[in-house]
Amino acid sequence: MQENGAGTLYLCATPIGNLGDITKRVLDTLESADLIAAEDTRNTLRLLNHFGIRKPLTSYHEFNKYDKAEVLIDHLRKGENIALVSDAGTPAISDPGEVLAKRCIEEGIRVTSLPGACALITALTMSGMSARRFCFEGFLPQDKKEHAHILDQLRREERTIILYEAPHRLKETLKDLHSVLGDRKITLCRELTKIYEEALPMTLEGAMAYYKEHDPRGEYVLVIQGADRNALEEERKKTWEEMSLEDHMKVYEDQGLSRKDAMKKVASDRGVSRRDIYQALLAGDKD
Ligand code: SAM
Repeated sequence: MQENGAGTLYLCATPIGNLGDITKRVLDTLESADLIAAEDTRNTLRLLNHFGIRKPLTSYHEFNKYDKAEVLIDHLRKGENIALVSDAGTPAISDPGEVLAKRCIEEGIRVTSLPGACALITALTMSGMSARRFCFEGFLPQDKKEHAHILDQLRREERTIILYEAPHRLKETLKDLHSVLGDRKITLCRELTKIYEEALPMTLEGAMAYYKEHDPRGEYVLVIQGADRNALEEERKKTWEEMSLEDHMKVYEDQGLSRKDAMKKVASDRGVSRRDIYQALLAGDKD
C-alpha cells in the first residue's frame, strides 16, 4: 500500500499464444491481487483455470473503458490491488489498458508493469528488419481522413514501421500500403508463438500477389522497411525544383521566417548558395 493508502495497478503481460510465455511474477501477482480486471473475462478465466488460480474477475474492455476506469479507481483508492490483463500480450499496447493506466497516474495511484509477451516486439525481433530504430503504429485508423494522414506520414518514415492487422483487413491494408509507400520489404508475422507461427519476408507487391492465392489466417503483425533517406532527399529536391523561387520563399515566409532566413532555407533545399538565391530573386524583381 502507498502513503495515500491506495493500492497498486499491476499491468500483467499474458501470452499471445503459447501459455509457456506467462511469467512467474505475473502468476504470483494474479494470485495475490484483490481483483483481476480482464479485457475478455472468458479468455482470462481459461488462463486462470489452466494455472489453478481462483480470483474475483471483472471486465474492462473497449466499450466500458472510461466508466469502468472510475469504478476500478475507487477500488484502488480503498487500498485494493488490481491486476489488469488484456486479451493477450501487454496491457496498454493497442488495448484499453492505456486509459486505465493514464487515469491512475492522474489520480496519484501507483502503476507498475510486469513485462512479458508483446506481439510487436516478438515480430520485430524475428523480422530481419532493422530493430535499431522503429516506430509502432498499432492498427491503422478506420476513419478515412485519419487513415490517409497516417499513411502519408509513414511514406516519409525512415524507421522500421510496425503495424497490427486483423486477417479480414489484411489484403486491403497491403493494397493501401503499396499505393502510398511503393514497393518495399515487408515481413508478415502471423500466429506468433503458436504451432503455425510464420514470419514471411516478402515485398509489398509479392505479398499482394501471395494473398491473391492464399486466404489470410490468424492475427498479423506487419514489419515494414522504413523509407530510403536518399530517395526522400531526391524527391524533396525535385519538388522544390518544380516550384518557382518566389513560391519556394513563400513556403518559409508563411511559416513566419524572415526573408533572410527563408533565403537560407531555400538555398539549402536547392543545394545552392544563399548568394545564388539572392541574385536570382533580384533578377526576378527586375524582370
Ligand atoms: N496488447 C497486445 C500486445 O501486447 O501485442 C496487442 C493487442 S491488439 C488488440 C491485438 C493485435 O496484436 C492483433 O490483431 C495482432 O495484430 C497482434 N497479435 C496479437 N497476438 C498475436 C500473435 N500471436 N501473432 C501475431 N499477431 C498477434
